[in-house]
Amino acid sequence: MGKIAKKYLEIHPWKIEEKGFHEDRALVSESLFSLSNEYMGVRGFFDEGYDGDSLIGTYYNGIYEVPQDIRKSHYKGISDKNHYMVNAANFFYTRIKLNDEVFVFNTRDISQFERSLDFKTGEYIRTYQVKDLFKLTFKRLLNMKNYELSHQIIEIEPITYHGQLSIDLGIDFNTKHWGKPGFWDVEAYGKRCSIGKTTTNQHVYVSYQLNVSADHQNHFTFENKVNIESLNFNLLEKVVIEKTICSLVDKTGSIKLDELKTKSIELLNDSNYQKTFLINQAFYEDYYKHNDIIIHGDMENQQGIRYCLFQLVNTYQGVSEKNNIGAKGLTGEAYSGHAFWDSETYGLPVYLFTNPKAAKNLLMFRYNTLDQARLRAKELDTKGACYPIATLNGEEACDLWQHASLQFQPTSGVAYAIWHYVKNTDDTKFLLTYGFEMLVEIARFFSSRGQYNQDQSKFGYYGVMGPDEFQMMVNHNAYTNYMAKASMLYMIDVYETYKNEASIQKVVDQLKLTDDEIITMNKQCERMFIPYDEKTKIYEQHEGFHDLPHINIHDIPVEEFPLYAHWSYDRIYRNDMIKQPDVLMFMFLYNQQFDIETKKANYDYYEPKTIHESSLSPSIHSIFAAELGYTKEALDFFGFATRMDLDDYNRNTNEGLHLTSIAAAWVNIVYGFGGLRSDGKILRVSPFCPNQWESYQFRIQYFDVNIEVYVDQKEVKLTLDKQLSKPIMIFDKVYELKKGTMSIAVGN
Ligand code: BGC
Repeated sequence: MGKIAKKYLEIHPWKIEEKGFHEDRALVSESLFSLSNEYMGVRGFFDEGYDGDSLIGTYYNGIYEVPQDIRKSHYKGISDKNHYMVNAANFFYTRIKLNDEVFVFNTRDISQFERSLDFKTGEYIRTYQVKDLFKLTFKRLLNMKNYELSHQIIEIEPITYHGQLSIDLGIDFNTKHWGKPGFWDVEAYGKRCSIGKTTTNQHVYVSYQLNVSADHQNHFTFENKVNIESLNFNLLEKVVIEKTICSLVDKTGSIKLDELKTKSIELLNDSNYQKTFLINQAFYEDYYKHNDIIIHGDMENQQGIRYCLFQLVNTYQGVSEKNNIGAKGLTGEAYSGHAFWDSETYGLPVYLFTNPKAAKNLLMFRYNTLDQARLRAKELDTKGACYPIATLNGEEACDLWQHASLQFQPTSGVAYAIWHYVKNTDDTKFLLTYGFEMLVEIARFFSSRGQYNQDQSKFGYYGVMGPDEFQMMVNHNAYTNYMAKASMLYMIDVYETYKNEASIQKVVDQLKLTDDEIITMNKQCERMFIPYDEKTKIYEQHEGFHDLPHINIHDIPVEEFPLYAHWSYDRIYRNDMIKQPDVLMFMFLYNQQFDIETKKANYDYYEPKTIHESSLSPSIHSIFAAELGYTKEALDFFGFATRMDLDDYNRNTNEGLHLTSIAAAWVNIVYGFGGLRSDGKILRVSPFCPNQWESYQFRIQYFDVNIEVYVDQKEVKLTLDKQLSKPIMIFDKVYELKKGTMSIAVGN
């Protein structure tokens, strides 16, 4: 694998903890200690300021900026629209002044540093001593039900210092984005409120209330986009300052200020730290009751997978159809907050089996942005709809043209996700009302973008980039061809099955879908070329892949990762090194279409060429390794997936958490060791427990039934809270499961 863990956190099943300040990990910790609640996210930066490396990041889902210096492209189809989730107000802004000197966190003056983040409450606590003067404690919460609310507690406990202290508390819109000042237009609105406006005419309205335990004076200033309240008091005994903050966003610029004011006063009056603490406690208790994953006999992976579960629900729980899952969630500026094909291929399976409403909302995001995808198809001289590789609002926002113009896995990903969702929920209403319209436009895109070779024997895609982003502008990428065929055939199948339904007729009329188009697509699918060698059972990643110059990936020194930052861009493209699963990816999505020999042949051929530069990669390899009986490799990859960020395997956690690979870690244990297969006629589980573990448990929701799966070396126990209306295949037998627990010997 060539990647190494950089461990520094304490191991604990329900929290992450840093003891002693690790200066070299300051930015990594800022990412790891991030909090979010789908509505907003805050990195784990220091409220009181820090004189070292820091990214003070606060982000609101759906609040974005457009670059002001964008250059219009002279070339048609080269995407020149860009937008990014913008760093917003630091509402935890704090400055401590002692004898007119400002204290900011620094390694010279502090000792006994500790911080922790609790997965059961979402409470982030930091504490340390400043010389022998006083002890500081900072606490934070984001409310998991009333998403607009966040909380800060500052405790100052005197040791030898008893005298005047002044603390500035503020709302700072002077945040930087990728190190550059933002374009926020800011006004103070009353004393404890600031309004920031983006150039996209969106508003963020931030206000707060204070509760201070000591007698104090306060005065207010507003300068340089920072709204400050200065508190002055005598530090005689422990002082506790509690700040409750309300952030309201107006994504359309149409809500009246008075309405925002009234709403924020109501929310603030009804809240405080303790209330939110209890709300969160109840929220997470319920969440783990239905979603917890327990591993006995492997504390590192236990902590890793719990961290993943915790950050997953924080990032997305399907609160709104307008939200999606950013590759870095709401924890940093890398990937600009954009959602990728990751949402449908890695995120959706998690939600499908834990929170189907959220899975549907992910698809509704694509339905609501179908018009933007239609426009993009036009820009690319094609028909139908082409979904963006990276987006916040449905428009293509990727500024690397090769990705924006040549990668079609978001488009086939949407068709796949509709198929996967409908298959496992029977939600035909969704299929007929929303799904079919997307499918027709997706199929049209693939039909119009594909071409025949000169003797017309092969249909497929020329000049594309598959999931393996180290191969640009290739012909007949197996993944693209396979998935395009599956997308078109699924649309045709839905059409044939439901063509007499009024809602289907409506779409057919509206989109003028003709029988000729269906005939054309059927023929294209018949001739779709998927490069494959019967003798070796190996799919060729694209035409010509087998002949590319070889490099031994194990010779690459670890310091050269991530490669995108150390190798010239073009150098990456000129050999047979793979970034992430490509052939293995379609074999994962349509797992049951391939026999075990074919899986083995392709895994054995491609894995040694894969450097897993994409954090999405290890988990898919772990799933194959588990199925093929390569248990050690499966566990190694799993550890890599669950602790990707905790141990900074990819050496870029400083930029933010890899949120979609966190989803992939869930997929890893449930599909890998749990052997879940959701792409056949019947849902299937064939679990086993790696020798290194005593046992493990995971939970899924299926047709409204909560199922807990317990697996140890000898037996598998399934516990259901209701009778299941669908049969399930366990290993190779079909069962009708009733309420209660049933036990089967492993492998039977
Ligand atoms: C991967 C893509 C992925 C993106 C966001 C890239 O490094 O190659 O497949 O969509 O990251 O996670």
